[in-house]
Amino acid sequence: MKATHPQQASNILIVDDTPANLLLLARMLTERGYKTQTVLSGKLALLAARAEPPDLILLDIAMPEMNGYEVCEQFKSDEALKEIPVIFISALSETIDKVKAFRVGGVDYVTKPFQFEEVYARVQTHLNLRRLEKLRDELTHMVIHDLRNPLTVIFGVLELLELKEAKTLSAGTLALLTAARRSVTEMINMISSILDVSKMGAGEMKLQREQCEIDALIRAVVAANQPFQESRTVTVDATGDALSVAVDVGLFRRVIQNLLSNALKYTPAGGNVSIAVAASASEIRVEVADTGPGIAPEYHQRIFEKFGQVGDRHNRVGTGLGLTFCKLAVEAHGGRIGVDSEVGKGSAFWLVLPRAVDSHGTS
Ligand code: ADP
Repeated sequence: MKATHPQQASNILIVDDTPANLLLLARMLTERGYKTQTVLSGKLALLAARAEPPDLILLDIAMPEMNGYEVCEQFKSDEALKEIPVIFISALSETIDKVKAFRVGGVDYVTKPFQFEEVYARVQTHLNLRRLEKLRDELTHMVIHDLRNPLTVIFGVLELLELKEAKTLSAGTLALLTAARRSVTEMINMISSILDVSKMGAGEMKLQREQCEIDALIRAVVAANQPFQESRTVTVDATGDALSVAVDVGLFRRVIQNLLSNALKYTPAGGNVSIAVAASASEIRVEVADTGPGIAPEYHQRIFEKFGQVGDRHNRVGTGLGLTFCKLAVEAHGGRIGVDSEVGKGSAFWLVLPRAVDSHGTS
């Protein structure tokens, strides 16, 4: 009997090196109204999923060449495929390493010989969970996206007030307006980072490159942040005469904005932020150094990962997405980003952009 279920059009990729198992599972699932695709190896599974991402993967563990755990790890390290639920298949006679199965990102497992009703129930459960997750993500995305417009209006109004009423308002009131505008700017930046990280992660961001003078762009960002500097000094030092490079100006400006606002946020009053731009024939290097608290070595990689922050949960503010955005944006330009930092001395965030651009616009 065919299932009249909302997931009946869900696409399931079945990976097993034994053709008889593939046929059995495929028949069983198509009878229940699912679309299936069958492949005999992990390599083919990755190719098939990249061509047409499935809704769920049934993955045999014991396969020659690449075993199921390794295949799963590859799926989980691919931004476009990592959210697809993977259910492992193992023979009752084999001992499945359950901890490893979950550690590499599997959500469940079924055993051979198959109990059809059980396989069906597990598949259906994880498809339902995934559908709910997707709905939640879409809703969050929509809310976040729709917050940007009213915030941009508030920003504009605050800026106008600061400019027009500069003479009539007291210094204290003006400082309050500046503080409000700064918070709104931070919110808009956070929203843009969240939206861009999800777009770039899904490979949906196309770079709009145009030739630009990097030092001029940086000086413009510094000037826009001047009201937030307070007693900190910010210097820009550009060496080399060929500072023009083809970048996506909007994205690159926000990379610099993120690095500068972090530097200002973490540098105590009276401290310094120095930005250095250096160019060679093949690369342009930008470094944003501060005299803040510095970052312990174990966090140097982690802060560039999604939600990666220093310290424990209760002390955290912000989203932990600003540097993830910077990394994705710099890598989309074919560049690299990193940090040199020592606790107690300060941090130097650096990025390197290649000058040459390939036909895909990446490097
Ligand atoms: P957020 O600022 O929203 O937390 P980021 O991705 O911009 O997100 O930064 C991640 C973390 O890296 C911050 O929470 C902070 O712990 C650390 N960090 C970033 N920049 C600096 C800096 N200049 N000095 C010290 N720590 C920093």
